[in-house]
Amino acid sequence: MISKDHIIKRFTSYVTIDTEADPNSKSTPSSAKQWDLANKLAEELKAIGMEDVTIDDNAYIMATLPSNVDYKVPTIGFISHFDTSPDFTGANVKPQIIENYDGKDIVLNEAEDIVLSPDYFEDLLLYKGQTLITTDGTTLLGADDKAGVCEIVSAMEYLINHPKIKHGKIRVGFTPDEEIGRGAHKFDVEKFGADWAYTMDGSQIGELEYENFNAAGAVVKVKGKIVHPGYAKGKMINSMYIAQEFINSLPRFETPEHTEGYEGFFHLCGITGKVEETVLEYIIRDHDREHFEARKEVMEKLTNELNSQYGKEVIVTEIKDQYYNMKEKVEPVKHIVDIAEEAMKQLNIKPLIKAIRGGTDGSQLSYMGLPCPNIFAGGHNFHGRYEYVPVESMIKATEVICKIAELTAQKKS
Ligand SMILES: [Zn+2]
Repeated sequence: MISKDHIIKRFTSYVTIDTEADPNSKSTPSSAKQWDLANKLAEELKAIGMEDVTIDDNAYIMATLPSNVDYKVPTIGFISHFDTSPDFTGANVKPQIIENYDGKDIVLNEAEDIVLSPDYFEDLLLYKGQTLITTDGTTLLGADDKAGVCEIVSAMEYLINHPKIKHGKIRVGFTPDEEIGRGAHKFDVEKFGADWAYTMDGSQIGELEYENFNAAGAVVKVKGKIVHPGYAKGKMINSMYIAQEFINSLPRFETPEHTEGYEGFFHLCGITGKVEETVLEYIIRDHDREHFEARKEVMEKLTNELNSQYGKEVIVTEIKDQYYNMKEKVEPVKHIVDIAEEAMKQLNIKPLIKAIRGGTDGSQLSYMGLPCPNIFAGGHNFHGRYEYVPVESMIKATEVICKIAELTAQKKS
């Protein structure tokens, strides 16, 4: 068994190091402070006995646990990110340990009257009787994704200390800047050299994900013509009205606030407007590739229609693909999901297989040649002061990693 105290100690040592990513920086890592944890992790991997521990110029860490069997087994990888979200501060995190959680309100901060309550966050009730790690209400926790890092390191340590568990070669990868969408950008898939991998970056215990959105961003620029309003008849073109027509021509109920499950959407996320120019910012999301392409066409068609009505190039729409559904890359190697599901079942964890309404680093990695489903890391309420993680879920995630390694070795290649 993996000890609770050991997990708590390791996790706490990570979250108390500030690694907030900076979306305004072009460097990698985006914030220099991410090196503080990166360097510590590289040292720790060496200390527990991992081999080929490398940390590159961009703070990407890789390490190897060699195979302990004499036959050929596929090389598998486990990946997580050590940066935290810029949505909320990650400086001076003071983790609180709530033992034997009683199912009632948790006062995070008495002075500021900040309460973590199951009335609002019902998921808390899943963990009655367990040990929770919370914030003190003034920062995020960083379980996203230092829980994942902690689980991977702990699983490798466990496998090293229990050589009776047979496994093939295992690669470990820790990345910076996932929270600003760049975690996979400089990930050297070839150097990693795994047949497939798992990101340990999901939330609730049991989560197993291999479908995500196809994603694009669109910028719609509408040009107007400014004339003195007193003399504007037949001359002024008010870009804001044309933009409004554009907005109203898209299906009003295919928006985030009206969709769930596999339903896609157009999301208007920003408008800036004056008579002369209005700019609309959209994101387009759909799990289905054909529907995704159709959504982009709808926008292009609408642009052409309005242009033929108001004059050439009044509207210029620029659409850029952002990422794709990993399902296309994972389905042909579906056994990698099956192994994870089997591992959970053997550990009495109910697998929660669902489509992500977002993206993961794994979706980018899957298109870079490393099929990469996502597994729970255990935390809840990411990116804010109400973030928490049950220690029992972290232990289970650690066991899932060990079990996947074991099952992969049993399957032989
Ligand atoms: Zn994450």
